[in-house]
Amino acid sequence: MNFAYSPKVEDLIRRVSSFMDEHIVPRQRQWHEEVHAGRYPVSFMEDLKALARAEGLWNLFLPHLSGDEPGTRLTNLEYAPLAEIMGRVSWAPEVFNCNAPDTGNMELLHMFATPPQREQWLVPLLEGKIRSAFAMTEPDVPSSDATNITTSIRRDGGDYVINGRKWFITNAAHPNCKIFIVMGKTDPDAETHRQQSMILVPAGTPGVKIVRNITVMNHVSPEGHCEITFTNVRVPASNLLGEEGSGFALAQARLGPGRIHHCMRSIGAAELALELMIERAQERKTFGKYLHQHGTVGEWIAKSRIEIDQARLLVLKAAWLIDEVGAKAARKEISMIKALVPQVHTAVCDRAMQVFGAMGVSPDTPLADHWTWGRALRYADGPDEVHLQAIAKMELARGKERLGATAAYLTPPLRD
Ligand SMILES: Cc1cc2nc3c(=O)[nH]c(=O)nc-3n(C[C@H](O)[C@H](O)[C@H](O)COP(=O)(O)OP(=O)(O)OC[C@H]3O[C@@H](n4cnc5c(N)ncnc54)[C@H](O)[C@@H]3O)c2cc1C
Repeated sequence: MNFAYSPKVEDLIRRVSSFMDEHIVPRQRQWHEEVHAGRYPVSFMEDLKALARAEGLWNLFLPHLSGDEPGTRLTNLEYAPLAEIMGRVSWAPEVFNCNAPDTGNMELLHMFATPPQREQWLVPLLEGKIRSAFAMTEPDVPSSDATNITTSIRRDGGDYVINGRKWFITNAAHPNCKIFIVMGKTDPDAETHRQQSMILVPAGTPGVKIVRNITVMNHVSPEGHCEITFTNVRVPASNLLGEEGSGFALAQARLGPGRIHHCMRSIGAAELALELMIERAQERKTFGKYLHQHGTVGEWIAKSRIEIDQARLLVLKAAWLIDEVGAKAARKEISMIKALVPQVHTAVCDRAMQVFGAMGVSPDTPLADHWTWGRALRYADGPDEVHLQAIAKMELARGKERLGATAAYLTPPLRD
């Protein structure tokens, strides 16, 4: 087993890191100032995107480009360390056209869109000219079980008519968000996993209303996590993505890569939190000792190092498996990282915040923002418990196949 990155990936790591140091990190303050002043997208975003694209640091996430699309062709394993670097700054992924939920949506369109749908939506997304949203979750039903969703997609002549209410729809407040991929039911009487379909709804279609941008732990995200109503929204039948009844399967296909990208970025956020914690612990003294010299703080540093490295190795294994055998066959490992990594992300940020004292909860470090996002990730793309249940189910199925195999390891009762 070789843990080293190839020279090609080492070169990309160096280039993405330099880009972050030169163009992104120095603009953190300006980004916050402009967003607070209501300017979004921020004034320098398009220039930075053009620069990243010119440097070949564009669409790094999409491994299976067919040829003419802009981007660098990398495997998931090769992309992982780059996503990690981008994850250090919340708005950085957009600069490289590698941000959620667009990456998952582009993967979905790449796999299932018809040629006209690709032309209309995938091409401008790959160019970074528009943004997109994925609308599945509903306020009125437990949406971690996607079979519960109730939004209706009803055929009417040459059109479909959509009615329903969604919420927490990321990106929907982005001024460049031009397309919603909406999941609903085309046939509520079909077999449970064949009732759902996905349909493309252009933003601005009559009947689409953004009700509010929901704050996350009282934190406003300018791209939005929105509540949206769809009232008699009419789109041509050709806007259906895949075939009628395939929505559930499409959702499964989308969530594989989407989940792993979140985890890769989370590792970057945790790594930054540990770096901050280490620096702060070496700068400040209480009771005659530097903070790291107090046993508890030293232990937090060590624990964080262990947890991050464990999480990273598991993420890399999941990425390697997706490359080798596909997301479906890697579903256990994808669930494992989705259940683990956001917890490591928040645990490490939490320790770092504590080491910073009151400053840790202020906006003067990135820790509070990173903690908030890590906490939210414990729901996004499925809550921890659903992934744990899925892992247990797969392990139990394996145990059933091997039933009796452990008998030889039992010690027979000893008798005198
Ligand atoms: C910041 C943020 C961004 C999001 N972005 C999007 C987006 O862009 N598009 C979108 O469609 N959705 C999005 N979501 C929604 C997210 O996918 C859902 O919140 C998630 O799927 C859970 O659904 P729910 O909120 O309806 O919880 P419910 O389904 O009501 O579940 C509630 C709780 O029940 C428990 N639970 C559920 N099932 C089990 C089980 N099997 N075993 C044990 N306990 C269980 C869990 O603790 C769970 O948290 C986002 C959420 C957040 C917080």
